[in-house]
Amino acid sequence: MKKTIALIAHDGKKADMVAFVKDHIEYFRNATIVATGTTGSYIRQTGLDVELKLSGPMGGDAQIAALAAEGKVDGIIFFRDPLGKHAHEPDIQMLMRISDLYNVPLATNPATGSLIIEGLFD
Ligand code: PGA
Repeated sequence: MKKTIALIAHDGKKADMVAFVKDHIEYFRNATIVATGTTGSYIRQTGLDVELKLSGPMGGDAQIAALAAEGKVDGIIFFRDPLGKHAHEPDIQMLMRISDLYNVPLATNPATGSLIIEGLFD
């Protein structure tokens, strides 16, 4: 069954996310990708299909958390900017809490992101 991966990157990490997706493009070609709005529109530039949710600050992280709670996401890759401050910090915390509650793999950097991708597509 096709895996669904959620991708989110804060502004300072969007270039890293695009590079990460390109590095794993063969895996992502076989996945359903959902992403927060701006992150997803960057990822679309790689030629992949991406289901766009709202932008993160407008509720996109919360939408992805809802998918995780409903069992509709197999893994979340969320490159946070450790140097940034965010108006939607409560949503970010909520997404992390929901992923722990439902035991959904969540990576916050490329090293663990690679492990999730390799684990899901082995
Ligand atoms: P964005 O949202 O992809 O719409 O920028 C990401 C975030 O800030 O959580």
